[in-house]
Amino acid sequence: MNAPLNIAMPAEASAAPKNYRLLIDGKHVDARDGRTIARKSPGHGFTVSRYAQAGEAEVEAAVQAAHKAFETGPWPRMKAGERAAILFRAADLIEARLEDIARLDALESGKPIAQARGEIGGAVDIWRYAASLARTLHGESYANLGDAMLGVVLREPIGVVSIITPWNFPFLIVSQKLPFALAAGCTAVVKPSEMTSASTFVLGDILLEAGLPAGVVNILAGLGADVGAPMVSHPLVEMVSFTGSTRVGKMTMASAAQSLKKVSMELGGKNGQIVFPDADLEAAADAAVFGGFFNAGECCNAGSRLIVHEAIADDFLSAVKALTARVTVGDPLDDQTKVGAMISSDHLAKVTDYVTAAAGEGSNVYSGGKQLASNAGQYLDPTIIRGVTEDMAIAREEVFGPVLSVLTFESIEKALHIANNTPYGLSAGVWSASIDTCMSVARGVRSGTVWVNTFMEGYPELPFGGYKQSGLGRELGKRAVEDYTEEKTIQFHRGQRTGWWVG
Ligand code: NAD
Repeated sequence: MNAPLNIAMPAEASAAPKNYRLLIDGKHVDARDGRTIARKSPGHGFTVSRYAQAGEAEVEAAVQAAHKAFETGPWPRMKAGERAAILFRAADLIEARLEDIARLDALESGKPIAQARGEIGGAVDIWRYAASLARTLHGESYANLGDAMLGVVLREPIGVVSIITPWNFPFLIVSQKLPFALAAGCTAVVKPSEMTSASTFVLGDILLEAGLPAGVVNILAGLGADVGAPMVSHPLVEMVSFTGSTRVGKMTMASAAQSLKKVSMELGGKNGQIVFPDADLEAAADAAVFGGFFNAGECCNAGSRLIVHEAIADDFLSAVKALTARVTVGDPLDDQTKVGAMISSDHLAKVTDYVTAAAGEGSNVYSGGKQLASNAGQYLDPTIIRGVTEDMAIAREEVFGPVLSVLTFESIEKALHIANNTPYGLSAGVWSASIDTCMSVARGVRSGTVWVNTFMEGYPELPFGGYKQSGLGRELGKRAVEDYTEEKTIQFHRGQRTGWWVG
């Protein structure tokens, strides 16, 4: 039995929780009924933040503010270069506050601080990319319609966008949406997860400081049913950009369909990493551990299924197990930590229930599988399960914890069958020295991203999103700003119109 994890209490534990107020029409306000949400650090157990808790009245006020800013404010009418300058300033301010923002995300989500710093740095890069794209947005012209006609296709901002985000990458995910919506000239109402709202409120302050006009971005903390749902159904909202679970994504789409809103959906994943015998097995083993346990597996892109060729399974898995034993689990604020706390005790219980059920179905827990004893917070031992078969729930459903399910194959056809045998299609990885093998897998896998001899890298230039029930639409990439636009076709006629209808 290992000694319990010894989690040190940070300075914040003996201070009062930080308070965050809603941002509506450029002003910080409390909820009308005075309700608040308290957030405990899942790694330490003390209350770290308290947010004003919005309800339907605040959704109404926020949408009205965003609508007014869109209809009559300067933002959609500015030159793209002026909008870009404000977005670049915002990126600089995020960079200047990187350490504070990373600490908030680590405290509220339980993720390791070193990883959080990487995410905020990545977000800065995305804000700069979106700022530079703002000036590239353009339409089309058609001078090939005959001498009397000129066709012009404009790209206009779509209007008010509702942005709803999950708890696992609080600052990074809002940064995959908001700067592109703003670059297009849209206005927004943003709802972060009720568990990790603080860094989004800091972003709101940064945007005002960068010069964003009042009402362009409004930020509400609150529950999905009270705040998210009316943000989706509100008639003045033109588009919903949602990242979260497939279950809530389906509900959101059904609600948005009532008023035919455009939706963008980034949902769950059950991603496979396929390892062939001719791969660089040392690198593949490291990527297997990274894919399974990064962000405690609370990651849409987690490589939660390790699909290994039978011929190398035993040796490869013992290498993976040995590396797993070296993964440092513990205090999210410790620079050395690789796996921090689980988001909540309910979620931890859900993950361990999956492990118990898989063991009951005939698989075996090869490593980990248990909650780790600790003086504070909730931590789960990185877990490897062998003998998983395709029909087991753990092979098909998103577990969202540090649990690696191992399946084996003997042919490339079988590997592809396993990889594709889930309702999800977010991402996949393939490890082989053969270009033929890599290309066959990359072409054969039904997912939005395939990593070849690497895993879970991301670049603002590359579109990201899911096949099947992993989502709808793509984020990032050069078309990300266009997603937040409508096309308007204008047909100019010169001279007297011929071919009259009545004559
Ligand atoms: P969730 O679906 O429970 O919640 C996501 C957001 O939706 C939260 O802000 C929540 O308050 C809100 N919400 C809940 N009910 C709502 C409703 N009825 N109407 C409108 N909004 C509502 O997801 P979560 O547990 O916060 O996050 C984990 C999930 O997110 C996982 O499934 C993960 O795979 C997915 N995810 C996907 C991506 C991606 O890019 N594909 C990235 C990160 C996370």
